[in-house]
Parts: sequence; C-alpha cells; structure tokens
Amino acid sequence: MRLVIKYGGTSISTAKDIQAVSNHINTLSKKHQIVVVCSAINGTTDDLIEISESIQKENKSKAEQLASKIINRHKQLAKQTIKKSDVQKKLLKKLDQDFAELLALIDGMVLLGEVTPRSMDYLISFGERLSIKLVSSAINDSGKKSIPLTGKEVGIVTDSNFGESRPLMDTTRLRVSKTVDTLFSNKTISVVGGFTGADQHGHITTFGRGGSDYSATTIGSCIKADEIWLMSDVNGLMTADPKIVKNAKLLKEVSYIEAIEMALFGAKQIHPRTFEPLLTKKIPMKIRSSFNVKNEGTLVTVSPSSSVKNTVKCVSNVRNNGLIDIQGGSMVGTPGTAAKIFATLAKSGINVMMISQNPSESSITIVVKNTDLDKAVSALEMELLGKIIKKLEVTTDVAIIALIGSGMRGTVGVASKVFGAIEKNKVNVSMITQGSSELNLAFVVKNSDTNAAVRALHNEFELDKIN
Ligand code: ASP
Ligand code: MG
Repeated sequence: MRLVIKYGGTSISTAKDIQAVSNHINTLSKKHQIVVVCSAINGTTDDLIEISESIQKENKSKAEQLASKIINRHKQLAKQTIKKSDVQKKLLKKLDQDFAELLALIDGMVLLGEVTPRSMDYLISFGERLSIKLVSSAINDSGKKSIPLTGKEVGIVTDSNFGESRPLMDTTRLRVSKTVDTLFSNKTISVVGGFTGADQHGHITTFGRGGSDYSATTIGSCIKADEIWLMSDVNGLMTADPKIVKNAKLLKEVSYIEAIEMALFGAKQIHPRTFEPLLTKKIPMKIRSSFNVKNEGTLVTVSPSSSVKNTVKCVSNVRNNGLIDIQGGSMVGTPGTAAKIFATLAKSGINVMMISQNPSESSITIVVKNTDLDKAVSALEMELLGKIIKKLEVTTDVAIIALIGSGMRGTVGVASKVFGAIEKNKVNVSMITQGSSELNLAFVVKNSDTNAAVRALHNEFELDKIN
C-alpha cells in the first residue's frame, strides 16, 4: 500500500516517542511505501507565535529567550534520540544551520519592528523544519534511508494568502508526485513538514493552525495514496468526550461528512480543510494513536459499511462560548439585515459558530467564542446600534451540545427524544439549530449543564452499545 502517515506534535515530543515512531515506520516500510508528515514538536508553534508577539511588543530579550528554549529543546532531543554518533553529528550540524537562520530572522524582524503576514509564516514554519530533521534522522538511526523535506521542498505550491493559504493543486500534484515517486524508487522514506508550502515566488506560506492534517491529505491526493493515517495521542473519534462519559466508545467507522462535523465540533481537533482533498479521490483515512498502534482507530470513508444505521453517532460539546441575541424592530422584513450583521462581524475577524433567526424576524441569535465576545459586541454596537439594531442581549459561558450522525436524516422523533432527555435532567436550552442536511442537531446550554446534557443524550441513544 501507499501510505501517508501524519504525526501530531505530541506523538514526537520525547526521545522515546520519536524512537517509537521511527521503529513503527521502519517495520511498516517493509510492506508499504510510506510518506511521513510531521507537525512541529508540541508547544513549538505556540512558542514561535509568542516570539512574534514579543517582537511586536519590542521585547527583544523575551523573543531571544523563547528562541533559546526552542533551540535547547531540539538539541537535547537530538542527543537523546539518536544513538549512532555519525547520524547524531550530521543532525546537529543541520539543526545548527536552522538555528542560525531562525536567530537571524528574529534579529531582522526586531530591527524592522514589525511582523508582516509573510514574515510571520516564515517564522512559524521553523517548528516543522526542525521536527522533520529529528524524525528523519531517527529513521536513519533505525537503519532505513530517509530524508527530511519541507512543504516547499516536496513541491507544495500555494497562493500568497499568508496564514491561510491554499495549495494550487495542479502544480502541486505534478511536483509532489514527481518528488515522491523518485524517493519511492530509491527506497527512501520522505519525512515532510506539515503546515507549510511556498507561493509561486518561493515565499513560505502556512495553512493555519493544525494545518499538518491538511498537508497530509493534500500529499495523499497528489500521490494517489491508498490510505492516510492521522496519528496523534487519541485512539480515534469517540461517541463523547471520555472525560465526561465514562463508557464513551471509540467509533470504528464514520463517513467523511460525519467526520467533518465531528472535527468542527471539537471531538478531535482536525484542520477544517483536511477532508477537501479526500472527497474527490475517495481515499480512506484512519484516525489513530501513535501510543497504541495495535488499535486500528476510526476509519473515515465515503460510505461506512457497519454501524451506519445508528441515528446518532456522537454527542460532542464545545464549552466557553457567548450568545448574542440581536434584537431590533426594523429588522423585520428588511432585506439585507443579516448581511450587515455578518459583514460587520467578518470585518472584525469574528468566527460565528451558530446562527438562528425566528420566523418573525425580530431577532437573530448568534454564538461566538467567549474570547471573541467583547470584540463582537463592540463591533455590532459601533456599526449598527440605533440603526438596524435596537438591543443586544449577551449571555456568557454557554456550551454548544451537538448530536452528529447521518442516520438522523429523515428519522422521525429524534428531536423529541433529545429534548425529552434534556428536560428530564432539568437543563434549560437557550437556542437550537439543525441544518437541513439533518446531519447535526445542536443546541446551547449553560456551561455548568454540559456534563448533564452530554450524559443524558449518550444514555438516551445508547451510544455505549454502538459498533
Ligand atoms: N504546528 C502547527 C500547529 O501547531 C501545525 C500542526 O500542528 O498541524 O498549529
Ligand atoms: Mg498539531
């Protein structure tokens, strides 16, 4: 099989973990052709972002202190992970070049005193630049040929939308398949840095936080992979958060569209665009744990064979949101009201998670993250209060509870079952949405009612008996 195997940052955060990964890849490579995709070692991207914030605040010493932290951590990992002294020496030399470039970049940014989207992407690409060298050397150390490649080096060409770029698929497909085919014929395992590519001018771009998943599926579609595995520290997608529901079960199989909903609702953080490249090529994906490789994880396919008959597959929850009820007499029957509200929010960079409007059109209710709440309210007040909006009512600390499963479509009685179970637990529901796809039924409760609501629904739909 042709496999693209992606490791998240926690899967490669200690010497022991990196060795386990390289041994696993070594074993798999005896039977399969493999491209490895790596995130940055966990915490590195956060540190790099903090460096950019320090530069903006003109705090040079803080930026340098964080850079030393990154440098020391990677040096130490190199020494602890790699046993063969020649392999270790080579690795340390390569890392030193990256460290020098990182420090020079920080110096340059400090001198300019500004962080542009382009320099930001260049800066935060260093996490993956370093991690691939460690992992690739560890594979060398285990006795296999391997080389590290950045997204740019493997051939991912993107638009110039720094921070949220997209691959230009035609060019990318040609370049990536050529690079990878050559490496396959040389029996070399490529370890590719996720999260990044380069635009047509060769400037480094990134896909947004968590973008390594997207790199893996992009590469997978370019090389016509048979499967893509996303390895992290969770066993797969679950029927509910196991911290809330003790008998939560691993979902053996879900469809792409269900997985997209689950990813959006935080069941496991997956980059939202991850599934795009898979849809046309219909490549199966597995969500697995690198700490439990005996477990096959969750298989994501176009049309799952088993357990598809379950109406509901998972109850997920996202806490710490704010609800804004936007009221105004002149909103009734006025075309363009919603457009103005959402344009105002978009201009302030606010992501709206839920929307509902009652048919009387006298109010629109939206849910945003708690952290966006102040910004959202002040944007709406500044632009629209006294015009189309009369009043804003804000509730903080609410949770979204979402039921996901394509079997809900056309099934009568799901809503009554849901709200019956919720009512029995005396939980108050302040907003409800269901898209017409009926794939997802979501409602809003107080943060403090989250556990009760999730448990009640997990019970009601007998999700512990799934699979
Ligand atoms: N290292 C990047 C991040 O932390 C990309 C990724 O982990 O997928 O967001
Ligand atoms: Mg990650």
